[in-house]
Parts: sequence; structure tokens; C-alpha cells
Amino acid sequence: MPESILVVEDETLVRDLIVLNLEHMGYAVVATDSFAAGYRALLLESPSLAIVDIMLPDGDGFALTRKARDSGVLCPILMLTARSDAADKVRGLDCGADDYLTKPFDVTELLARVRALLRRQAGQKTPPVRYELGRFWVRLDTGQALTNEGELSLSDKELRLFTLFAKQEDRVLSRADILEEVWGMDAFPTDRTVDNFVLRLRKLFEEDSDSPQHFITLRGRGYSFRRVPHTG
Ligand code: CA
Repeated sequence: MPESILVVEDETLVRDLIVLNLEHMGYAVVATDSFAAGYRALLLESPSLAIVDIMLPDGDGFALTRKARDSGVLCPILMLTARSDAADKVRGLDCGADDYLTKPFDVTELLARVRALLRRQAGQKTPPVRYELGRFWVRLDTGQALTNEGELSLSDKELRLFTLFAKQEDRVLSRADILEEVWGMDAFPTDRTVDNFVLRLRKLFEEDSDSPQHFITLRGRGYSFRRVPHTG
């Protein structure tokens, strides 16, 4: 089964260029030209990856990406922007996009980024929507969770951090990796922010937050998440 890629772009010439090149590389491509059609396809086609233009006739790519993430869409999203404004990049990543490319772009660069995002995705386990952790659980689509503090709703950042750990089980995640994945390129959060959020997850999901069995600190390297507590 070829990997499927959704393209959301209203400019015919740009869309055709992207579609032809992706098809040439062997991907199955679904092309749409509006916010509404793109959103429908994200939900119904479950693409492996989506390429989303910011300027669409009936909305913008930021809102589309956020809406898709809010609806539980986890596939990598690459945003296209006509502006090379750093603020746009931050905004795109904050909305839940994984990468962005400024128009006009070199098609070989687009293809390279698509491959990189798909590779990254392939290395990640797709967690089930209701993720069980010992006697606790988290709904990755809504953020509802059963925790030491009872049933509650995780904040957006807590949920994104939890989902990142769930996808990257047993891998080493540096604080920089976590900042980039959860906070985007925003300059304000610091390593300390990451530590505070991990402490929060431990309070919620560890039997004993002073002796964590799931959210493990690796000195000088970052964190690693283990679903099953390691014994001995
Ligand atoms: Ca456009």
C-alpha cells in the first residue's frame, strides 16, 4: 500500500506541481482546494501526511491544522506559507503543524521534507485513542484522563507532551526535542518548562511521583517514557 498524502492548496498550478511530483514518487495523493474539503479529507481519508497551504479561500491553514488536531488527527502536517515571517512559522507550529515551507519552494526540498516527516512517523508507534498506563488512562483525542487526582481534563500542552511520550515509548527525548515537538519554535519556554510539565505528569500518573516508573529522567540526556515499569 503506497503512503497517502493529502494536499490542501487552492492555487491550481502549485497544487498540480505538488501532486505530479508526489505521484511520480509513488505516493497516493488526494488533492483538495479548500478548508472545508481539506478538513473532510483529513478525517475521512486518514492520510499518512498532509500538506496544507495557509491561504485558502474559505479559511486559513492555521485554523485547519488546529481544528484537525482538536479532532484527533495525528498525521504529520507540513504547512506552506507565502511569507517567510518567523511569526508565521511559530504560529504554524503552535497550531500543531510539524514543519513548514516558504513559497516559492524547490520541489526537491518539498519531497525531502515529506520523506523526513514520514520517516519520523514510521519510527513512532501509533498509540490507541484510549491509552492505558497501569491503572490510569488518557483519551488522546479529548484529553480526558483518569489520574491520581481523579478524572480530569489534561491541558493542551499536557496532552501533547503525554502523546509525544506515548508515541516515542522507550526512546530518549532531549529537552530540546520535547520543546520543539510540544511548544514549537516559540522562544519563551525553557528547559525548566519541560521539567515542570514532566513533574506534573508524574504527579498525575505515577504511583509514587518521587520514584517514577514511567517518566524516567536520564541525567544529561533528557527523558524516556516506559509504559511498563522496569523491575530489578
Ligand atoms: Ca493558497
